[in-house]
Amino acid sequence: MNTRDSEIMLQLLEQNGYLLSNDLASAEAVIVNTCSIRGKAEQKAYSFIGSLRRLKEDNPDLIIAVAGCVAQQEGQKMKVRMPHVDIILGPQSIYQLPDLFQQVANERKGIISTTQSKDFTIPSFLPSLKHGLPHKRFVTIMQGCNNYCTYCIVPYTRGQEVSRRRSDILAEVRHLVASGVREITLLGQNVNSYGNDQPQEERTSFPELLRQVAAVPGLVRLRFTTSNPKDLSPALMACFQDLDNLCHHFHLPVQSGSNAVLRAMNRRYTVEEYMAQVAGLRQACPDISLTTDIIVGFPGETAADFQATMDLMEKVRYDSAFSFKYSSRPPAKSCDFEDTVSDEEKVERLAIFQNRQREITGERYQEFVGRTLEVMIEGMSKMGNGQWSGRSSHNLIVNFHSPASYSPGDLEHVTITEGCLNSLRAELNKEKVKND
Ligand code: SAH
Ligand code: SF4
Repeated sequence: MNTRDSEIMLQLLEQNGYLLSNDLASAEAVIVNTCSIRGKAEQKAYSFIGSLRRLKEDNPDLIIAVAGCVAQQEGQKMKVRMPHVDIILGPQSIYQLPDLFQQVANERKGIISTTQSKDFTIPSFLPSLKHGLPHKRFVTIMQGCNNYCTYCIVPYTRGQEVSRRRSDILAEVRHLVASGVREITLLGQNVNSYGNDQPQEERTSFPELLRQVAAVPGLVRLRFTTSNPKDLSPALMACFQDLDNLCHHFHLPVQSGSNAVLRAMNRRYTVEEYMAQVAGLRQACPDISLTTDIIVGFPGETAADFQATMDLMEKVRYDSAFSFKYSSRPPAKSCDFEDTVSDEEKVERLAIFQNRQREITGERYQEFVGRTLEVMIEGMSKMGNGQWSGRSSHNLIVNFHSPASYSPGDLEHVTITEGCLNSLRAELNKEKVKND
């Protein structure tokens, strides 16, 4: 989501005559887009913003803007702690950035723009394709979250759920596809709530929106993220049966395998309900690749609770997982819970989880060996070994040698020969080689 916000800010500034610079020392303005989801991200942001003080001393005309969740949350506090920052703007204010730049240049005084309104509407916006990969793009469908998982800061920093108008989303997708984009990922903190904030008569459910986006002619691949398991509906599962261009990947964050911890997290599903969702997805799409998010060391997590998370991962066998040590994020509710897990225990549990996940990922990769997959090319492999690199529908990275020349977004059929640490190795599909 932050990546998409950065793209929007860049485009708006370019439309107002600014040029992107890769050199901090000679730049006339610096925008720091921040994330506060975990304590570490916030510390990193503060230390980088602090390091800009020297630049400002050397060049008092330099405009420094801080955007994103840390800016939203800290507001005035940031201004006091970091007086060299000119503009502090929250996620709802990014569309005003060029005006805020103008205001700072005219008035030469700091601005804090962190208002959050329930009536906020995401402006109509046609993205430029000047930067980034030409074949795949993110499209925001909603902002904010109403779920209040007890550990999570998002509802406070990004505000309440605001869905984008369906017509704007479809216009953006059509514009991107007409400009050569072949893969779209729809973005929201909990995409299943899409439309819930809209008047009944205008409401479109997420599965319905997905069907309409999938039907845009020329769209080759469609993905979405993220989905809270409590809201995963049979109608969404049915999309995997019906929509040919919907990719075979589902990110379904479980957070914990213990019902006691899930309750304390206010996730509003049980392990049993989660497993039923996994079974439903696998029934709708046997080939589906599942990934997840896990938090270890949530306040009150016992050794048995952690073992329950390990047991769940053995049952589901995720293709990969993002795993985090719990971090206290005021004003999230869990800050008032007694933090019973020492940092050493958190570190140990995280390592146990990640080591086992690495093994399972390797085992899952082995299951792909011998299969023929359609790969969407991204470019040459970063390993610099002359291989092409692309992604399967499951979102797995696949590297292979080929005498052909490809452009990003081209499709190729390859047969998987080997599972590596973070990718699959493949060779050109034998059938194809014979026919060439
Ligand atoms: N909306 C998504 C999650 C977005 S945040 C969802 O509901 O699944 C991405 C991930 O960060 C979360 O899934 C969670 O695993 C992790 N996370 C959020 N707050 C955290 C915290 N306080 N400590 C550690 N990890 C956290
Ligand atoms: Fe945070 Fe929960 Fe909302 Fe995800 S669903 S953004 S974890 S409050």
